[in-house]
Amino acid sequence: MRPILFIIFDGLGDRLIPQLGNKTPLEAAAKPNLDRLAEIGITGLIHTIKRGIRPGSDVAHLSLLGYDPKHNYMGRGPFEAAGYGLDLEAGDIALRGNLGTVNSENIVIDRRAGRIDSSAPFAKLLNGLVIDGVTVITQAGLNHRIAIALRGERLSPHISDVDPHLADHPLLLAAPLDASKEAAFTASVVNKLVAKAHSLFESHSLNKERRSKNLPVANVLLLRGAGEMKDIKPFHEVYTLKAACVAGGGLYKGIARVLGMDVYEVSGATGKANTDAVGKVNKALELLQKYDFVFLHFKATDSLAEDGKPLEKRDYIEKVDKALAPLVPLAQKREMIVSVTGDHTTASDLKVHTADEVPILISGYGVRTDYVNSFGERPCQEGGLGHMEGRNLIDYLLNLRGELALYGN
Ligand code: ZN
Repeated sequence: MRPILFIIFDGLGDRLIPQLGNKTPLEAAAKPNLDRLAEIGITGLIHTIKRGIRPGSDVAHLSLLGYDPKHNYMGRGPFEAAGYGLDLEAGDIALRGNLGTVNSENIVIDRRAGRIDSSAPFAKLLNGLVIDGVTVITQAGLNHRIAIALRGERLSPHISDVDPHLADHPLLLAAPLDASKEAAFTASVVNKLVAKAHSLFESHSLNKERRSKNLPVANVLLLRGAGEMKDIKPFHEVYTLKAACVAGGGLYKGIARVLGMDVYEVSGATGKANTDAVGKVNKALELLQKYDFVFLHFKATDSLAEDGKPLEKRDYIEKVDKALAPLVPLAQKREMIVSVTGDHTTASDLKVHTADEVPILISGYGVRTDYVNSFGERPCQEGGLGHMEGRNLIDYLLNLRGELALYGN
């Protein structure tokens, strides 16, 4: 059976940019490999949720992977926590956070504690604490990042953030967001945890050392994005595809992990424009030897557009395109199926996600071609896929493999 390489460029779509001669970054990019895949494949435009919806990355990925976000979205916390490697159970309340610095008046003076090297020694102090019968489970992320899960009875994800999201603002108290006893109880557990963390962190030897070097101390736990881990059916059970993921960004690794995919780390996969694109593509190709489905994610198309940098977005597409060269002969020989799209448009003039459709190409085994020979927002308007919705993509790919269930008999 031909394996599927499922490539997402985050925020791939864009708008016509005057500095690029009124082309989009994708249209302006020199990208012979993506163009060739489009030429020998089929193209179109995709609304990752549906027309008129401006998607967040998390819900858009769920939809593209064939999960209705209405029933499967659980807030950002669980995906981020899973991305850091935290093993969540259904019912856990997960939050992501930072180690930050507060002064004696509880004003947050640095949201990242001077981008401290590692949160692991602090995460370890909190792991296994029990507060009012609720067990705290922690996982360190990169630098100042940390994830927390609360495991116990009577918990709710409906609580506000402790993180004020801005420096020079007071630390907030978690508050219930509805009238339930569960939300009030969970907020009180979080506030006790933050207070406990403050007293434990203050006296930590690493902070004494940081004080002596005049570095910001890590003395506060800034938590946000509470969400409840749901009992979600794994991808390989829903779609009978054994799946793996190669990504740099924590959110994407987390979504893959929550869906039961095996997540592989590539050293040099940073989730930024400097990522090792060749290393990621090579890893994905190696995994296609033993997996039916490999989800390969590239993040910087989105971040560069959010920073208002369309030229850099174009350059990043060119860099990844070079790394994609080995796919062309494999698609040509119909030895695999490759799908390339984005999770939403990120308009680099507005610096935000928009509801504009995103170009898509599918190439390789089983594909009926069209007459489009380049990959871009406007060429794809002429493509044979027409206008797709994200939730139909996996079924489309299953059909190419000859594995889509028969409707009727
Ligand atoms: Zn995105």
